[in-house]
Amino acid sequence: MRNFDYARAADVEQAIAMHARAGDTVYLAGGTTLLDLMKLDVMRPAHVVDIHKLGLDQIELLDGGRVRIGAMVSNTDLARHDHIAQHYPALSQAILSGASTQLRNKATTGGNVMQRVRCGYFRDGVSPCNKREPGSGCSAVDGLNRNVHAVLGGSAQCIAAHPSDMCVAMVAIGTSVQIQGPQGRREVPLADFHLLPGDTPWKEHALEPGEIITHVTLDPPMPDSRSAYLKLRDRGSYQFALASSAVVIALDGTTVRDIRIALGGVTTKPWRAENAEAVLRGKSIDDARIRDAAAAAMSGAQSYGQNGFKLLLGQQAVIRNLSRFMA
Ligand SMILES: Cc1cc2nc3c(=O)[nH]c(=O)nc-3n(C[C@H](O)[C@H](O)[C@H](O)COP(=O)(O)OP(=O)(O)OC[C@H]3O[C@@H](n4cnc5c(N)ncnc54)[C@H](O)[C@@H]3O)c2cc1C
Ligand code: SF4
Repeated sequence: MRNFDYARAADVEQAIAMHARAGDTVYLAGGTTLLDLMKLDVMRPAHVVDIHKLGLDQIELLDGGRVRIGAMVSNTDLARHDHIAQHYPALSQAILSGASTQLRNKATTGGNVMQRVRCGYFRDGVSPCNKREPGSGCSAVDGLNRNVHAVLGGSAQCIAAHPSDMCVAMVAIGTSVQIQGPQGRREVPLADFHLLPGDTPWKEHALEPGEIITHVTLDPPMPDSRSAYLKLRDRGSYQFALASSAVVIALDGTTVRDIRIALGGVTTKPWRAENAEAVLRGKSIDDARIRDAAAAAMSGAQSYGQNGFKLLLGQQAVIRNLSRFMA
């Protein structure tokens, strides 16, 4: 274990100033990703700024039906919040499908958005890995890539799947990320926050150095909608998704008035499947259309060997989730 400085910030401005004072600085939220990776010697910050006392632990209902969630709201508190459970069930289900009770009690909303990939080559600290060591290569493309590697959105430089369940539900709901940094405040749609690996897999998100996520804000619930999250994995709990889907749907009888679908487990970022939505929007929902939508959702998917089964499993995550909404 390497030595590092630890300091606790009293407010957002101080956290940003502390971050700006020195290089190699990271923010510490729940620590469930960060401390693991420091112990594995994969992340090696010289300075750690604790952001627990910034007052970012509120869930607020805004005018117009939006919901603003402080970055330090725990995954448990968010999933169990009455308004979230009632109006955004897919989000509650997604969070509660992840990790374990103890981890969800510590893990935060901002930390969940910022969590790192679970690729074994990234975490072992020695294998060639472009994400950890830019330009060293990708060991997973021709290696062990069954569980936590994507079939959509990858490149020859990186195929690690984005691990968050919460973000998949948030992308289906429609969510923006509020950011504060040395240059002031700004907002980015969550769907644009995570970056595809392309030729620069070490660039994972839209944050500039020193910027902090202060809040994420959910769009109002789709009128008269229902929603659900489905996670497919090797065992029933405490496991990352092999494939997952979040669906928000509003039906007039059997006609789909509006729909939003997002995928996880099979994609390198939380993934909005607009092509699948287009198959269903304004149409009657039936088995054949659901299968067509699932095929559209996974169109362009590419097997990298061991993870080839995800081409069909990704479709099943959509089919089984959508089928719940048939009368
Ligand atoms: C055994 C295990 C199983 C898991 N299973 C699942 C699962 O099934 N599904 C799932 O979705 N997740 C799973 N997780 C991941 C877990 O959800 C994340 O570790 C957690 O959400 C990270 O939040 P945190 O507050 O602990 O972040 P931290 O570990 O404190 O931080 C993570 C990163 O985000 C940065 N950061 C944190 N907050 C901010 C902020 N506000 N602004 C800017 N940067 C910030 C930190 O600097 C760090 O780089 C699992 C984790 C473990 C250890
Ligand atoms: S898939 Fe990404 S994280 Fe894994 S070895 Fe390749 S570059 Fe590294």
